[in-house]
Parts: sequence; C-alpha cells; structure tokens
Amino acid sequence: MQILVTGAAGYIGSHVVKQLLEQTDYEIIIIDNLSTGFQNTIDTLKKLDSTNKRIKFYNQDLSQWEKVEEIFKENDIKEIIHFAAFSQVAESMTNPIKYYSNNTINTTNLVKVASDYGVEKFIFSSTAAVYGDVTSENIPIKEDLAKDPINPYGSSKLFSESIIKDVASINANFKYVILRYFNVAGADIDGKVGENHDPETHLIPLVVKTALGKRDSIKIFGDDYDTEDGTCIRDYIHVCDLADAHIQALKYLETNPSDIFNCGYGYGYSVKEVVEAVKKVSNIDFKVDIEKRRIGDPAVLISDNTKIKTKMNWTPKYNDLELICKTALEWEKRI
Ligand code: UDP
Repeated sequence: MQILVTGAAGYIGSHVVKQLLEQTDYEIIIIDNLSTGFQNTIDTLKKLDSTNKRIKFYNQDLSQWEKVEEIFKENDIKEIIHFAAFSQVAESMTNPIKYYSNNTINTTNLVKVASDYGVEKFIFSSTAAVYGDVTSENIPIKEDLAKDPINPYGSSKLFSESIIKDVASINANFKYVILRYFNVAGADIDGKVGENHDPETHLIPLVVKTALGKRDSIKIFGDDYDTEDGTCIRDYIHVCDLADAHIQALKYLETNPSDIFNCGYGYGYSVKEVVEAVKKVSNIDFKVDIEKRRIGDPAVLISDNTKIKTKMNWTPKYNDLELICKTALEWEKRI
C-alpha cells in the first residue's frame, strides 16, 4: 500500500516517515521541494529503509499542479499525510501572501487531486495558531473553541481546514484527521533525525544552540505578560509523540469518521522554565537577554488533550520537558 507524505524532508515529516518505516509496511511516496527541508534528511530516511525500495522521492513544488497530478497517475496513492507548508509566525506577519499561496492554495490543489484520484485518508498538519489569543478562562483549549487566528500563518491553516472539511462533505470516500499541533520540540530518541530550520526561530533549538556556544545569548521576547513569571507559556510536545499521533490517526480512520484533534500534553511551561531546563540538562550557563514582546505571540497556549487520548489510541511516552531539551541538545551537537 502506498502513502504520500508531503514535506517529509522537514522536521515533523521526517520523524513520521521514520516511524512509518519502523512500524508499517507502506511504500512511502515523498513530495518535497527542499525549500525548507534538506536532501540529506531524505538520504538519511532512505538509509533507514532496509529494503531500499520503500521510499520514492519527488523533488517537486506543490504549486506545479499538473506535475503533482502526474505523481498520482504514476502511483496508487490512497492515503496522504500533508506537512509541506511554511511555519514561521513572524514571517507570516510580514509576508502573508507567501503563507496563503503555499499553505492554503497549494493545499487546495492537493485536496482536489486527492479527491479526484480516490484518496481515502488525508491527515493534515494544522496548528494551535488557529485559536488565536485565547482568554484565560478558555485554557486549556478544547477543539471546539472559536477559531480566531491572530497571524496569517494560523489563518492559512484554518482556511485549509475548511477546504478539507468541505471536500469531505461532498465526497464520502474522502476522510480526514486534522491534527492541531501545539509546540513541537525535541528530536528522535535514536538521534537519526531532528530539527533543522534555516533560519531557526523556535525557542528550544535556539536555547540549545546558545548552550553550545553557537549563539551569544538567548533573547526572551517579553517578560511582562500576565503569567506567573511574566514570560509566555507553551505546551511543548515531543516530536516522537507527535509523529505517533499521525500513525494512530491512520489507524483511527479505518473504523471512525473524520475528526479534529489537539496534539499537546495538556500543561505548559514558561520561556524562563525552558531556559532553566536547558541549563540543567546541559550543565552549561549562558547569557539570557530580556527583549520586548514579539508581535503575534499569544500569552498562553495549552491544549486540552482529552479528545485524542480518549478517542484515538494515543499515549504519550516522552512528556518530560528535560527529556525534550536533552534530545534537542544531543541533536544540536550532531549538526
Ligand atoms: N521565544 C523567545 N525567544 C526566542 C524564540 C521564542 O522568547 O528566541 C518565545 C516566543 O515569544 C514564544 C515561545 O518562546 O512565547 C515559543 O516560541 P516559538 O517560536 O518556539 O513557537 P510559537 O509558540 O511561536 O509557535
């Protein structure tokens, strides 16, 4: 059986492909334009394939619709996990069209081709950014909370969610699971794949780079939020637990209808707590600067993960901030 994974040269996609190789028999069709992912990640994944024939890689931009359709003609794709997207909140504020073009328009096309070619399962990587700046009485966030994104990144994903739902409503054969990720962090426990963004903007990789002397200091964006220590609070989920949610979602759709799930651990840590955790696991002290707030940042994002834990067979294994920071640190030493 064939599965298409878009964006598999990137951070989360590569961890999912590794688990698909280890835990399933799928032949894995990868589409990635290597704009933010890396050829050496594809090479690593191919090396992890002991049969040497389970991965077929297309270096292809999703905006070239006819070429994407050719890939569907050449293969027999019935399942898709769609990661390919831009994911930097700050960049989306200054270049919204880049986000709507890639994240929304290209997803629209992919969903159209998928529906036309008889795809039965579509797993979509969405984000907690669809909820926007959530008031404290709505924390932890449930899936049915009103969606009110405060940045184009979140909006671009929310539009995609609507498109997927609308197509499913007219095509009973097309089922979806939308996974709304909270803050994904850490690296593969075996150290084969990890996080590598250029430029890096996410907190945990930046803090571990600082611990390793690759940066002079870590800047904390705002310590005047209405939180206990004044810094923003996020629900950090280990990338291996998140990858497992995708595997479980494929199984879930065999016997269940389409649905939407938060992916997080249901509790949050402040930016200062993350900095302290990295200092502890690395045993290295480093410079921390307090800067002004970054635009587009909500104060607190914490998931209510009751739904994914009860409806899907998802049991987190790595819900430990120090373990997340340690795996990120070990990966950072390798790159
Ligand atoms: N953050 C920070 N310094 C950095 C990067 C991020 O203080 O160099 C903060 C950011 O303001 C947010 C949290 O860390 O409150 C997580 O940010 P990240 O970019 O990792 O993920 P986001 O929540 O924006 O998706």
